[in-house]
Amino acid sequence: MGRAGRNPRTQRTQAALILAELESVRARLTVLERGSARREQPQLTGDNTPSSDTLDTIQEGMAKEEELAVRETLVERLQVLARAEEKIREGTYGACEACGMPIPPARLRALPEAILCLSCAEAEEIRAVQGGRK
Ligand SMILES: [Zn+2]
Repeated sequence: MGRAGRNPRTQRTQAALILAELESVRARLTVLERGSARREQPQLTGDNTPSSDTLDTIQEGMAKEEELAVRETLVERLQVLARAEEKIREGTYGACEACGMPIPPARLRALPEAILCLSCAEAEEIRAVQGGRK
């Protein structure tokens, strides 16, 4: 008896998880974009004491930087999730994208969007660190 290499029920659960996550990441990105669009508008408030203005600018700059970081993380996550979803549709979900070996179910449970087995993911990480900046 083979130890259930393919379990359709598990795959369906993982697919649902990925889709739900994809939706929530998309929703957060939309909210973020709406928020920054609102901030781009010039603020015409009566109060223009220089000190509060300066503070506002500083706080705004910080908020913006934070927002950019969050957005970058979300976009990256969106790409990974979208790729995982594609693999589900292709029927290759659960197989490592690089070496084709099955990804251990424990890894998929912990990281439903995993498209690489652990050793390939590690190799990729090392490459990313060494290859460094574009
Ligand atoms: Zn692999």
